[in-house]
Amino acid sequence: MDDLSVKAYFQDKKGTTSELVATFYDEETYNACRPTLGGIARKARLIITESCENEDKIPEALTFIDKMILDVQKLRDSDFHVCPADERDPVTGEIIDSTRECTCGHFDNVCDNLLKLRKMINGEI
Ligand SMILES: [Zn+2]
Repeated sequence: MDDLSVKAYFQDKKGTTSELVATFYDEETYNACRPTLGGIARKARLIITESCENEDKIPEALTFIDKMILDVQKLRDSDFHVCPADERDPVTGEIIDSTRECTCGHFDNVCDNLLKLRKMINGEI
């Protein structure tokens, strides 16, 4: 079995709805099942569409996401992003301007979403 998977969908003729009906992990099985799926689709006045996915791409995508998370963390910690919480009175240790919003969370939100995406791609959620 190679790492190519084929997903078969039933789709209405206008292409407005599409439902995943089967995933095949080798082309031979897909080719054997395709006429049967075609018959079912025809009866329901639907058509079959297919998409091939190279499962090989997943580790590559995960590495890419990891890199993006590091990039966003670097942006958060870079000099142009001044966190008010980092500007403290050297004597009292208090935040000099507490009226300014800490925007570190904006960067962390992006990282959280990237982590969520990573888990989705990896089939963890
Ligand atoms: Zn901050």
